[in-house]
Amino acid sequence: MNPVPPRLLVVEDEQHLAAGLKLNFELEGYVVDMAASARKAGELLLQARGYDAIILDVMLPDATGFELCRRLREGGNYTPVLMLTAMDSTEDRVTGLEVGADDYMVKPFELSELLARVKSLLRRRSWERRQPVRETAAAEPIRFGGAAIDSERQE
Ligand code: CA
Repeated sequence: MNPVPPRLLVVEDEQHLAAGLKLNFELEGYVVDMAASARKAGELLLQARGYDAIILDVMLPDATGFELCRRLREGGNYTPVLMLTAMDSTEDRVTGLEVGADDYMVKPFELSELLARVKSLLRRRSWERRQPVRETAAAEPIRFGGAAIDSERQE
């Protein structure tokens, strides 16, 4: 039972790809916000509502996805991040993981694989949420950044 559709933030400046991602994620039942720049992504992330996962392109007009991901993690935001990189080099993949990304895909990629990987990130996150929190804090929501995890209500 999952009455609340997962919410995704897609940060991608290539219009065609962005539109295709939005359409396909929505067909899968996700609620999708789009950002074509790091700045726009930052604005959306500052709004109170949280995302369940972020799809993050590396090459953005005003920053790299690496920078954005690093800033997120430094700010205490641990939303799962899947990076999209056009550069198929080990170095970039390592950099992505080092700045705190959870997964990556190299462009061009198969849409079905991206959808499967996002599903896997969300599944892992829901497992983590189900793990018992330390006894003393069991009833208290865990807060970081703008987000709160309520272990009782699994939100
Ligand atoms: Ca790009």
